[in-house]
Amino acid sequence: MYSGLLKLIPAEIVKINEPMQYHTTFRIGGPVDIMVLPRNVEEIKIVAGFCRQYEIPLMVFGVGSNMLVRDKGIRGVAVKLGNNLKDVAICGEEIHAEAGIRLSELARKAALNSLSGLEFAEGIPGSLGGAVVMNAGAYDGDMKSVVIEVEAMLPSGESQVFIGDEMGFNYRTSIFQNHDYIVISVKMRLRHGNSDEIKAKMREYARNRKEKQPLEYPSAGSVFKRPPGYYAGPIIEKLGFKGYRCGGAEVSAKHAGFIINRDNAQANDVLELIARIQKAAREKLGVDLLPEIRVVGEE
Ligand SMILES: Cc1cc2nc3c(=O)[nH]c(=O)nc-3n(C[C@H](O)[C@H](O)[C@H](O)COP(=O)(O)OP(=O)(O)OC[C@H]3O[C@@H](n4cnc5c(N)ncnc54)[C@H](O)[C@@H]3O)c2cc1C
Repeated sequence: MYSGLLKLIPAEIVKINEPMQYHTTFRIGGPVDIMVLPRNVEEIKIVAGFCRQYEIPLMVFGVGSNMLVRDKGIRGVAVKLGNNLKDVAICGEEIHAEAGIRLSELARKAALNSLSGLEFAEGIPGSLGGAVVMNAGAYDGDMKSVVIEVEAMLPSGESQVFIGDEMGFNYRTSIFQNHDYIVISVKMRLRHGNSDEIKAKMREYARNRKEKQPLEYPSAGSVFKRPPGYYAGPIIEKLGFKGYRCGGAEVSAKHAGFIINRDNAQANDVLELIARIQKAAREKLGVDLLPEIRVVGEE
């Protein structure tokens, strides 16, 4: 069945039985049946149409910095947007960019153009599309505060522009998380500022991250969402999990909110660790810790 896809798109953008560990910052994940690395929107449309016609499961991702892919891998097609689709246009205080560009690259471009508002994105390793889907944020900033318009492909293959409340932004969530929408491009409104001050702020954030986060190990960032009224890291630390290991996965000794791939961890090791932390938080503190990372793949 997949051979039909190769008649529609060039073989060089298709990978068969591709290990997802090469495409996630966790460096974890079994193989996906077919991976497609589209170079333009037309190719995304063709793949989405093919999957729709043959009822093949389709998932779209950016650069895999907020994903845990299970050990059995992903059945169907995974479309990776983070290698291409990086066009950016800056017009006054507005930036219009394609979903595949890295958020941090975009933040640097904004700084060079004396545009303020994306400083928070320094050090967030995701794509712009992934950042919109997750409403990524840090240091009191988030995507919600800068995004004014999102163009997404609907499951029907048509494209739709979302504005204002239609985007459903909330803490680490958006409407694009739940409806099989594919984020294609994003319009943001920033404000003119002083380029040196913007860059200084970004350097400060980068320093902070280096000091506090275990950037020397593969991870997917903070594993859990912030429970109302708390921070996940201190809760996990209080429960005694700092440095705790399951197989090759470890709760970072530097920042308990991160689980790191310490030594060839399997997805099951991470899932086991997550389950133990959640159980302890519920039983000992009555707190529900919900994962921020997206767990995907065959169970
Ligand atoms: C060291 C480190 C630090 C981090 N710090 C932060 C932080 O400070 N704040 C923060 O919010 N996050 C942080 N993250 C998490 C992550 O970088 C962000 O959530 C990022 O926005 C995810 O982008 P991505 O392209 O990697 O998304 P992916 O991991 O590729 O995908 C995430 C989800 O979005 C979906 N998706 C991705 N792109 C699209 C698209 N174009 N259309 C439709 N669906 C899509 C995927 O299917 C998946 O469900 C950190 C991660 C690491 C490793």
